[in-house]
This record gives sequence, C-alpha cells and structure tokens, in this order.
Amino acid sequence: MKPFDYFAPQSLDEAISIFDSANEVGDTRGLIGGSDLIDQVRNGRREPARVVNLKGIPETNRLEWIEGDGLHLGSAVSCSTTAAFPKIKERYFGLYQACGLVGSIQIQNRASVAGNVCNSTPSADTVPSLLTYNAKALLVSSKGERIVELNDFFTGPGRNIMEANEFLVEIILPDLGENTYSRYQRFIPRNEMDIAVVGVASYVKLDEDHKCISSGISLASVAPTPVNAKDAEDFLIDKKFTQENIEEASNLAPNSANPISDVRGTSEYRKKLVKVLTSRTLSECLEDSI
Ligand SMILES: Cc1cc2nc3c(=O)[nH]c(=O)nc-3n(C[C@H](O)[C@H](O)[C@H](O)COP(=O)(O)OP(=O)(O)OC[C@H]3O[C@@H](n4cnc5c(N)ncnc54)[C@H](O)[C@@H]3O)c2cc1C
Repeated sequence: MKPFDYFAPQSLDEAISIFDSANEVGDTRGLIGGSDLIDQVRNGRREPARVVNLKGIPETNRLEWIEGDGLHLGSAVSCSTTAAFPKIKERYFGLYQACGLVGSIQIQNRASVAGNVCNSTPSADTVPSLLTYNAKALLVSSKGERIVELNDFFTGPGRNIMEANEFLVEIILPDLGENTYSRYQRFIPRNEMDIAVVGVASYVKLDEDHKCISSGISLASVAPTPVNAKDAEDFLIDKKFTQENIEEASNLAPNSANPISDVRGTSEYRKKLVKVLTSRTLSECLEDSI
C-alpha cells in the first residue's frame, strides 16, 4: 500500500479547496464507508495521493423529504440509515430493498448509497433502482454546483463523469407522487455477501384505470454500466398493468442486456435471468397495486 495524505474537512468549502488541487497533486478520493475504497487501496488497485473523509460535512449528512420536490440523500448517509428513513420504504421500495442487500448488516451500517454510485461497478445493487426513479446527483467543485442525471453518470466499469476535482454531495430522488410501485431483485448463488449475477429494478406509476403512465426497468451486471431496458419500459406505457403485459415486457427486457460470460454465469444464462427477474419484480409491483 502506498502512503497517502488524509483529510477530514468539516465544511463544504474546506473539502472543495482540497479537491481543487487534485489535478496537480494527484488522485484525490472521497471516503464515506470505505467498504470499497479501503480494500482497493490495500490491494493496490487504487493508489490515491489523498483520501478525503467527507463525513464531517453537514451537507453530506442531509436526509430530507420535501413534498412535491423529493428526497435529498446526502452522500455520507449509510445504507442502514437510508433504509430506516420512512419515506424510502413508503415511496422508493426498490431502493429500500437494495439497501438491505448490500453486503451484511455491518457493511450496510458503514457503506453509503453514494459510495455505491461513485464506485460505479455494473453490479452495484442500489444503482438500478435510482435509475428507474430518474435520480440525480449534486456534484460540487470550485467551479460551483452541477446536477446531473444518474442515467448519464456511468461511463464504464468503475468509471463515471465526475471530474478529478469534483465530489458528490447528495443524490436527489424526485417525488414520484401517488400510485407508484417499485421493486429490486438480484440473483446470487448464495444467500448473501455476493455480487449480483444479474439485478433488476422495476418501477411503475399507474393512473386510476390501472394504466401504466410511467415506467422504469434497470439492469445490473449485464453490461459495462447499469442499463435501462428501454423496449420493456416503452411497451408498458399506456397499457393496462396486467400480468399478460408484464410477461410481454419481460420478454423484451433482455434486448437491452449485453452480458459477458464469466465464472458466475454465461451470457445466455444472464439474459434468461433478466427476463425472470423483470417478471418477478413487475409482478410484485402488480400485487402491491391491487
Ligand atoms: C464484504 C463486502 C460485501 C459487499 N457487498 C455488496 C453488495 O452486496 N452489493 C453492492 O452493491 N456492493 C457491495 N459491496 C461494495 C460496497 O460495500 C458498496 O459499493 C458500498 O455502497 C460503497 O459505499 P462506501 O460508502 O463504503 O464507499 P467508499 O468505499 O467510501 O467509496 C467508494 C468509491 O466512491 C468514491 N466516493 C465515495 N464517496 C464519494 C463522494 N461523495 N464523492 C466522490 N467520490 C466518492 C470513493 O473515492 C471510492 O472510489 C460490498 C463490499 C464488501 C467489503
């Protein structure tokens, strides 16, 4: 392990000024739970010049619901605290489920949703749900703030659009309104502590006639980045949300998957899993809506 400088700023401005010199000093990494970063540094997969603990900053600890606006989830909030926040279970059930799947209870107590996002692996469990909700990320640097769609955030395995001198302050989940249903399921060969062979998050918003007026289906572990199952999403729109239409949408979901074959599953197997998990997650949404 290479030595690095460690910082623990107590304000946003202090953190911004540390990150500001990242291009000159070298890789400057935010630290929240450390459940990815510490392992990567110890194994030499990352050799940061500086590690910046972002947990002492008030803005990164924000966890606030604003009716009509949405949920502001600070980057330092752990998966456990996220799942325990009542609005998460009430309005973003898929994310609630995903938070409860990350590692173990001990990992969930340290790890954050933001760390899962910034680490940017295709298998990240909390990301597909965030994509179905059209969540956004608030990034800051000395140039100011910018809000980016998480749908445009990921660029490859372990890569994203964040600049070297930027960091993530909070994730913003829009207020989805009433009659919204979401679920997340993943397949792993054991009961826990494994990486998703495939993960699927589904979300629907229904009108009074039980017609689907908005949908999101996002897939983990089937491409270099998390992806949306566009054909399946589009199929559901303006149709009654029935089991028959769910099966049709599930048949279309693998169209968006471009998985590799590896020790954990072949490409063909992963595509079948996409279909099965899409059907299961949407069927649970249907059950919930009746
Ligand atoms: C035993 C074990 C089991 C695990 N199981 C799962 C699992 O089931 N599912 C799953 O998805 N993941 C799993 N993980 C991976 C990990 O726990 C998650 O990705 C977690 O959400 C990371 O959050 P963290 O706060 O610990 O991130 P950290 O390790 O602190 O950071 C992760 C990365 O994001 C960067 N970063 C963090 N915060 C910011 C910020 N605010 N701005 C800019 N960059 C930032 C860091 O520099 C680092 O590169 C597991 C890890 C372990 C060790």
